[in-house]
Amino acid sequence: MEIFKGENILDFAKEFPDDDSCKAYLAQEKWCDGFICPKCSHTKGCGKAGHKYHCYSCGNVESATANTLFHKVKFGLRKAFFIVFEMTATTKGMSSIQIGKRYGISQTTAWFFMQKVRDTMQSSEQHLLTGRVHVDEFVVGGREDGKQGRSYDTKKKKAAIAVELTEDNKIKRAYIRFIQDYSSKSLKPLFEKHIAKDAKVTTDGWRGYNPIAKDYDIEQVPSNKGRNFKELHTVIGQIKSWLRTIPSHISKKHVQAYFNEFCYRINRSIFKESIFHKIIQRMVGAAPIYQTQIIRNVTL
Ligand SMILES: [Zn+2]
Repeated sequence: MEIFKGENILDFAKEFPDDDSCKAYLAQEKWCDGFICPKCSHTKGCGKAGHKYHCYSCGNVESATANTLFHKVKFGLRKAFFIVFEMTATTKGMSSIQIGKRYGISQTTAWFFMQKVRDTMQSSEQHLLTGRVHVDEFVVGGREDGKQGRSYDTKKKKAAIAVELTEDNKIKRAYIRFIQDYSSKSLKPLFEKHIAKDAKVTTDGWRGYNPIAKDYDIEQVPSNKGRNFKELHTVIGQIKSWLRTIPSHISKKHVQAYFNEFCYRINRSIFKESIFHKIIQRMVGAAPIYQTQIIRNVTL
């Protein structure tokens, strides 16, 4: 089996006609560098029917889905694969309500599985933004009151965003972080985790950036109602309108997962060909997450 490439849903359906073909794909990815028994670390064994592996040392029979994020997916692997495809290869993400209806599963079931996929979309923090970087804050949720400036409405969720621009002012990459408030302390992690020290950063005149300017090359310019940060504000507009299409309430502890999904699609848009396979790789490599962990949000 070759790795799946592309964005064509008909090709996708042909490549994965049933649960068994998905299992074969997971098995191939899981044991591509050989078998290691998770129980005893032995490396010798043999493949068994149903895409399983039998350890010669302890007798453990390992399935393709065990110890991955596909562990105990009750609604079938083919549906799970299609949901991952919809969340990665399409331009816009879908809500758990839409996904539930489309695949005949409950909205809750869809939401839990989608949170697992979003979990793998977290930034690796390995690829810092460089060159020209614009930074700003924005709010989502709560009532839009049309007021200018920083909102202190507690129902709204605050976020800080950094984008890297190309020479001709196109958005190259973006990172968004949920923040508790607009203090330097809250804004700093966005810089530390996502922006290179030698990047030329531009922010508006907010004094919260002053202490950070000791370590980063920051130029502060007046926002002029967003006109000086046109590209950045286009992205902010996109994320706000995307989140508005999600009818279910997004709580503060889960909003970061949605930011991750949004940025993952932007940052991988030039690698669209392999985006599905990349997420499958990450899901196979990740330890299983249980619903109670998702509710408590220990992984994000
Ligand atoms: Zn073993």
